[in-house]
Amino acid sequence: MTDDRAVFRFAPSPNGELHLGHALSALVGHDWARRIGGRFLVRIEDIDEARSRGHFIDSILEDLAWLGLEWEKPELRQSQHFADYAAAAQRLQEMGVLYPCFATRGEIALAVARATAAGVPEQMDPDGAPLYPGLHRGLSADEIAACRASGDRAALRIDMHKALAVAEAKLAGRALTFREISADGRARVVDANPARWGDAVLIRKDTPASYHLAVVIDDARQGVTHVTRGADLFAATDLHRLLQVLLDLPEPLYHHHRLLYGAHGRKLAKSTGAPRLKDLRAQGLSRSAVRAQVGLPER
Ligand code: GLU
Repeated sequence: MTDDRAVFRFAPSPNGELHLGHALSALVGHDWARRIGGRFLVRIEDIDEARSRGHFIDSILEDLAWLGLEWEKPELRQSQHFADYAAAAQRLQEMGVLYPCFATRGEIALAVARATAAGVPEQMDPDGAPLYPGLHRGLSADEIAACRASGDRAALRIDMHKALAVAEAKLAGRALTFREISADGRARVVDANPARWGDAVLIRKDTPASYHLAVVIDDARQGVTHVTRGADLFAATDLHRLLQVLLDLPEPLYHHHRLLYGAHGRKLAKSTGAPRLKDLRAQGLSRSAVRAQVGLPER
């Protein structure tokens, strides 16, 4: 089946070199786009300006070209679109579902520890971090003004209870779901449960955006119809669907592909010493050998 309206993307964060796990992700999207005659984009997710480096962008693009990928130029760079993420945050604030949180990491950790000591069962988000204990939810306008006046910086957090209520009204009886498609195009409907993320940060203190907000804005802006990414982002889709409903953004199809694991059974990652594509390239490995290593058929 061909679909020339289909749009796929690979969205690396340039805070390191690409490894085999990224190669799988990029190739899954690119192969699929080619198979059905769709478009393929590369988006540079460089909102984290403290960790993103220009030379990583260069080597990411070299690696992708070496893998045989072709994509539309120029690549969107998220660091050039902070105003759009701020505008989306402003809309959410006007809906009453976003609030400033001045608490430091230390204060949050202390509040979590106190609650646990008092017998409140500790709840973790899908990434294994304790849920935000609600410290600054419900600050008065005067309290907010006082924090600002003393120079404290705020992150903006979603008020999950309020956001779910607004989304429920917008969905008018429909459930919050997403469609997960398999590589052969079969779709299953998955119930989204964004509440398990608690009051997640949508605008960070150190960066005027967050992954969750930027990704939904840009998938919509770029008309992405098929979000292909690793299974480690499966749970994040719940939050993305909530934001899409709140911001009246279209719902793409999702495909979360298998992850690659290293010798110790740990997910391939920079931190676990995954082989860098740059090194494999320097060693003279062929594209087809890379495809074989990540378990993809010869093309
Ligand atoms: N930039 C994200 C990452 O490198 C991927 C985001 C996505 O595909 O939705 O993990």
